[in-house]
Amino acid sequence: MSWRQILGLDISAEGPFTHNSQNTQKAENRRYCADIADFARRDPEQDDSRLLEDLAEACKGLDLQPSEVKAALAPEDITDWLKGRVTTETLTALARSLVQRRDMDQGKRPDHYTERASCEHCGPVWLWTPGEVLGCPWCWNRVADKPIPRPCAVRCSDCRHFTRTAHPHIGHCSKGMPEPVCGLWDMDSRYCDRYLPSDPGLRGKREASNKVSK
Ligand SMILES: [Zn+2]
Repeated sequence: MSWRQILGLDISAEGPFTHNSQNTQKAENRRYCADIADFARRDPEQDDSRLLEDLAEACKGLDLQPSEVKAALAPEDITDWLKGRVTTETLTALARSLVQRRDMDQGKRPDHYTERASCEHCGPVWLWTPGEVLGCPWCWNRVADKPIPRPCAVRCSDCRHFTRTAHPHIGHCSKGMPEPVCGLWDMDSRYCDRYLPSDPGLRGKREASNKVSK
């Protein structure tokens, strides 16, 4: 995931060629040539230390190193920064998002995710807003096989990681979650950060048909 996706930004869309008059184009061409000349004069080492200074400002108060933010920037992002198109506010927002994403990758709920929601693919999740969603920020955890903190108890019978034995209600967890010697009872409610809905598509169809029949 690029930082533009994290922040929902696309700075590249803010191109300078928004007007079409010939004069404007000439002026823009002159500016473009001046940009090239300016870039040719630049000292990469100086630029780098200036960028790290800006990033240090953005990381103030966060458990994050400027080099970690720099690693998240693509070469075109650095070019945008050199052109003054990336503000300190944007870098600060990026640094905060990176810390949040890192915490979420470790299965930690962000402080402002206080509402219980339901993701079509992840099941019950903590979000900043309640309700049902087709996808959520925890989907990144699901795809990367990382834990998802849950706002409520779940049942093994609804989980794709539940492998049934010959017994009608007993099975085992294919993710190796702790279980009694005899196995897991499918209808028991329990907290589980490795739970994933067994058939999210079917759940959606079921809900749709419920709405139709109402
Ligand atoms: Zn999700």
